[in-house]
Formats: sequence, structure tokens, C-alpha cells
Amino acid sequence: MATYKQIQPGKVFMGKLSHGADLLGELTDICIREGIRLGRIEAFGAVQKAALGFYDQRTRTYQGFALDRPLEITKLIGNVSLKEGKPMVHAHITLADKDGSAYGGHLMPGTIIFACEFVLQVFEGPVFHREYDERTGLPLWNMDSQQI
Ligand code: ZN
Repeated sequence: MATYKQIQPGKVFMGKLSHGADLLGELTDICIREGIRLGRIEAFGAVQKAALGFYDQRTRTYQGFALDRPLEITKLIGNVSLKEGKPMVHAHITLADKDGSAYGGHLMPGTIIFACEFVLQVFEGPVFHREYDERTGLPLWNMDSQQI
């Protein structure tokens, strides 16, 4: 059964990330600096290299893989919630090469920005806490108090 809560739109931040910075790290730093507890992120641009992950549902571990070359960010979509009391950015990214072939996965540390423009929408209302989920082995939102 789906679980969800009503949230309200808050501030919106829009900007560009730093050339040479870690993509996941810089997004997380903005959330910490601005005290963001809940939000959504969208971005596009280009990376110098990428580190992505694929969650192996059988072994319950992330299999990391590196794309050690310049690629276009055709789409980054993610959210912000709290894990152990701190903002955590969970993002997935699709990247394309010069032939238009695409690669995608769970964004990991080690993805280095060439250029990146982002929009960060903050939400107000209930806080979503990530906690260990027995069924998947993932740190999912614990929303048991609001089942619908
Ligand atoms: Zn993921």
C-alpha cells in the first residue's frame, strides 16, 4: 500500500554548481548550508567523469561502476530528506555520450562536474526520515504513522 503525506511548496533555489566539484557532494553541501530537510532537485549539464551505482536486489548491495570520460547530463532527478538527522540527497542521473548513447543509475560520490545548472525546490511540512527497510535492505522513508 502506498504511503504518502501532504507537503507544501517552500523556497526555490536555482543556480549553477562549481566546475571540478563533486556533484553529489556539492548538492548535499547546499542542503546543509540552507537547512533543507525536504525537497526535490533537478539538474542538467555535463560531467568530466561519473560514478554510478546499481542496487543488486539479490545481494542487497550497490554495485558501483565508473564512466571515466566526459558525458552530458541529460537529466538528474533527486530528492532531499533526513538520514540520521542530516540532509541526504538521493539522486538518479542519465548521462549521454557523443553518439547519444545513454547510461544511468544511482548517483555516487566521484561524479565530477564540468558544468551544471540546477533547481532545488524546498518543501515544508512533515519531515521524511530515512531508516533501514527490512524488505529491501535500503534506507527508505519511514512513514508508518500516515498509511493511507
Ligand atoms: Zn537510488
